[in-house]
Amino acid sequence: MKKCIHCFRPLKDKTKDHVFPRSWYPDDTPVNVQRWTVPSCLDCNNRLGVIEENLFVKLGICVGPSQAEASGISKRALERLGIGDLKIDEREKGHRAALRNKIIKEVIPYEEGMEPFPGTAHNLDLQGDRPIAILISQKDLLDVSKKVLRGCEFKISHRIIDYPYRLEVYFPNEKKIEFVSELFQKVSQVTYFGPGFEVKRGESDKDEMVALYKVTIWGQFKIYGAIGTEDYFNQMSAI
Ligand SMILES: [Zn+2]
Repeated sequence: MKKCIHCFRPLKDKTKDHVFPRSWYPDDTPVNVQRWTVPSCLDCNNRLGVIEENLFVKLGICVGPSQAEASGISKRALERLGIGDLKIDEREKGHRAALRNKIIKEVIPYEEGMEPFPGTAHNLDLQGDRPIAILISQKDLLDVSKKVLRGCEFKISHRIIDYPYRLEVYFPNEKKIEFVSELFQKVSQVTYFGPGFEVKRGESDKDEMVALYKVTIWGQFKIYGAIGTEDYFNQMSAI
């Protein structure tokens, strides 16, 4: 029987979850791009769907409208907040205004030297406005990142990440650890999903079950992940 790749519960129905949320694909994603789906229970779908939507708005409003890899994302995120030329009824307008007010409370002025993603996302090219930063929930970011990586591993290696292996997610400042970027330059296994997403996967020479991931979203947000055993992570932290 199939299992949910997120919570491992047996699946009664053939429910699926999009590895990259459907609404996150840029407008100009070619129609022939495979929009990966993986077995996932309804509970996980619903729980993750709410988190993804929340994160989409925050990350989306930090993407420049001219960002080549994110065509239409900025516009769509603003529309979620009721900004734009929208044909929606009063009730929906109210919902979106409430969301807008909630998000505005999480906006802080951008300051020079502020660490970018993951703690905050920045929009530095708001026209005629000062740069802003938006606080990002670390838990939401981790939940969505892990979900994406579990999905990638399932599609690429046909594997559910389970004991004794586990997944760790990182958001390193690439400027500070160049060796990570160099490491991924050598990785040959790359999957593209149109301009919006790029997935790189490398595995250990010693243990093919140990894998490293780099996922780039909209050319801007980068998620790094490692799949390994407790021993593997202990060795890594000793370096
Ligand atoms: Zn589940």
